[in-house]
Amino acid sequence: MSAYLPDGSTNEDGGKYDAGHGMRYTPRYTDPECTQLEGITFWHPCKQDRHPDFEGWANGRTGESDTPGTGWTHTNTDNPERLTVSPSILCVTCGFHGFLVEGRWEPC
Ligand SMILES: [Zn+2]
Repeated sequence: MSAYLPDGSTNEDGGKYDAGHGMRYTPRYTDPECTQLEGITFWHPCKQDRHPDFEGWANGRTGESDTPGTGWTHTNTDNPERLTVSPSILCVTCGFHGFLVEGRWEPC
């Protein structure tokens, strides 16, 4: 599967947007015009700095599920620097857990 990133972003740049608390993210899109959001790739302080399934050096991503009705929903997609993702995001490696709400990370 190919994904498109905003102009100037790469899978190795550590994230386009700073959500606070060490969380940074880059939106991924299914179209070259970057209008159809697929999910986010995110970076956070983690003992595992590279997940083997991920491209580049990101250590998490949302948006993909093989099971209908599961996975994440993304709102505010027209304004990616204020993106909201639900439900919560959890890194099972380090326990990093929280919500991305209007582009800000809320730990929990
Ligand atoms: Zn982690």
